[in-house]
Amino acid sequence: MPEAGHPLRPAYSLYRWYWRSLDWLFPPRCGGCDQPGRRWCDDCRVKVRRISEPICSRCGNPINNGLTCRSCVDIPPKYTALRSYAEFEGVVRTALHRLKYRRDVSLGEALAEPLIGYFASLGWEIGLVVPVPLGRARLKERGYNQADLIAKPLALASGARYSRSGLVRIRETESQVGLNIIQRRENVAEAFYGNRALVASKKVLVIDDVTTTGATISACADALQNAGAAAVYGLTLARAVSRKEP
Ligand SMILES: [Zn+2]
Ligand SMILES: [Zn+2]
Repeated sequence: MPEAGHPLRPAYSLYRWYWRSLDWLFPPRCGGCDQPGRRWCDDCRVKVRRISEPICSRCGNPINNGLTCRSCVDIPPKYTALRSYAEFEGVVRTALHRLKYRRDVSLGEALAEPLIGYFASLGWEIGLVVPVPLGRARLKERGYNQADLIAKPLALASGARYSRSGLVRIRETESQVGLNIIQRRENVAEAFYGNRALVASKKVLVIDDVTTTGATISACADALQNAGAAAVYGLTLARAVSRKEP
């Protein structure tokens, strides 16, 4: 939910009402535990493992000491800051897998709800929200972009403008699994293009479902800045946390 005590914006209320009316027609099961009744049940909500402080002020990864992690000092990312709501494990991992690969599209709005509250707590001033785009072939194959399903309700709830075409993927990228941070950055370098007419002089928030090293968000930030964005922030629902961070 957005900040306590604040009424929901009408566009966001309408969007929620749309998904809730579909629940009435097609009774949902929970994305985390598969129990019938709700898309994201109370049991799963309390099982979510939040990213705990201390974290790097730049990339948001857990660190043991200092303000910024070694990786952000060595190769500063292109974004101003990146944050994630939860660790990519347990019920969150199950739900995101279901959203991405099992066409459980109504999970986007349900999972966006806690992210909206977290976003409000960050105090970022954002003019435009964009999802990390899929390539044209992958979008056609999947039929939807899971990042879009999370980003749209967040934009509606925050009152920022929303654009699916502010950022375009101009080349498909290989799976990032098994690559280190340098290889990941090379893998996604110049994979995106920012639409100057939409993003110039705006503070842009890039949304994705999950991040590991932030390489994709950094490549998005690079493209948006080349197109004249004033600043770029990143927010993901989940983050694969390495517990070996020095
Ligand atoms: Zn559940
Ligand atoms: Zn960092």
